[in-house]
Amino acid sequence: MSNNRVRVRFAPSPTGHLHIGGLRTALFNYLFARHNNGSYLLRIEDTDLERSTDEFKNSILDSFAWIGMNSDEPVVIQSDRFAEHEKVIEKLIQEKKAYRCYCSPEDLADRLGKGGEDVFVRYDRYCFANSKTVGGTEGSFVVRFVMNENDPEIYSFDDMIRDTVTFLPDQFDDFIIVRSDGGPVYNFVVVVDDAFMKITHVIRGEEHIPNTPKQIALYKACGYAIPRFAHLPMILGPGGAKLSKRTGAKSVYEYKHEGYLPDALVNYLARLGWSHGDQEIFTRPELVLAFSLEQVGKKGAIFDTQKLDWINGLYIRSCTSTDLVQYIASAMDERFFDAMNLWSPEIICTVIDLFKERVTTIIQLMSDLKIFYDGPSADSLKNSEIQLSPAVRTVLENVIHRIQNEEWTASLLKEVALESGVRVAEIALPFRVALIGKTDGPGINDMVRVLGRVVVEKRLALLLMEHA
Ligand code: GLU
Repeated sequence: MSNNRVRVRFAPSPTGHLHIGGLRTALFNYLFARHNNGSYLLRIEDTDLERSTDEFKNSILDSFAWIGMNSDEPVVIQSDRFAEHEKVIEKLIQEKKAYRCYCSPEDLADRLGKGGEDVFVRYDRYCFANSKTVGGTEGSFVVRFVMNENDPEIYSFDDMIRDTVTFLPDQFDDFIIVRSDGGPVYNFVVVVDDAFMKITHVIRGEEHIPNTPKQIALYKACGYAIPRFAHLPMILGPGGAKLSKRTGAKSVYEYKHEGYLPDALVNYLARLGWSHGDQEIFTRPELVLAFSLEQVGKKGAIFDTQKLDWINGLYIRSCTSTDLVQYIASAMDERFFDAMNLWSPEIICTVIDLFKERVTTIIQLMSDLKIFYDGPSADSLKNSEIQLSPAVRTVLENVIHRIQNEEWTASLLKEVALESGVRVAEIALPFRVALIGKTDGPGINDMVRVLGRVVVEKRLALLLMEHA
């Protein structure tokens, strides 16, 4: 096996941020590589110079750094290899495995008909047969690859997820490998670069299945070893509909900013299309150990935001408060804790422990911390739906009075409530609204201990005022 070490790659085009579906494809590559002690590589496919930008390239690489899935070797930038691509094109032309084609789109339409949107019009090899133009240098041309109709190996391949996939030769023609602007196309460069990077397994989205025969033909023509292929099922929205922005089709960048933890996202995505009994929660080493392409399903996998939220909540709760402080400062907002200068690092940790139990995202946690520190706004108090009965008002007024004169104790609220014949449960809701603007949250005693009686008194008074 040592000569045959697994080498896989993920090859995004920098025409947008890294998408959640792309991350899942990259993750399956990564897990497959790690499971087999192989290498996981990244290549930026920027041959579409018009749509590719440095900003997107950097954003994609940043997303991988955040997830903790950097390339094992320096990232290959496809456009750095243009000269190499050209050499291979020239060689193919010389060996008569490719040829220049001078037919304009109008010529083709006249001769072959226009076809319709879904009608495939096969090129008739006019320029292959027409010696006047073959090898010519004048006029605008594309380069076409000679597709061998008689080689069955090209049209049938063994997919590691779908078993044998077979096409008919007449679904293909001498396809273009260099456009009239001189730019080589994806199907060509992907083969040259995968061979250069010694990729042994190509694991990618199923939309590339129809490209695979073209690529196999190119591997053979160039004399490269053909890798094995695995095409992953699509990610779908609820009910099998197309995944939309609302149902989860977002960039990794957005998930980061919405407060998902990288390990939670990885855990969730790993189980999207891959199964391992009933187990849902995996550490990364457990994923590496358990992962195999055999357990990847053929059917589309349904994206479930609720499950992602549930997993994210679990991961947040499993972090220590110190981890969460560090994560917020390093990944979310460097200055977040600057505004909480009345709290010592120990208090911040105590507060995080109080609030982390109930959140599903880091953004929610940050929002809870901020409101707890600043106090709820007058508007949020006014808009809160609680009703303050006269009895409840009296209890809250009495609490204010008590804490103006004495320290808070765990039984203080109970005592004051009992005096007015009100149940503590009835006081708890407005009390929480006064402290944090909502009815659910940490225990009142825990919160009062952090805030201190002066702050609590002010917040209770504000609630009474806004609900006067
Ligand atoms: N750049 C291609 C894409 O983003 C890569 C396809 C492949 O993995 O071969 O779809």
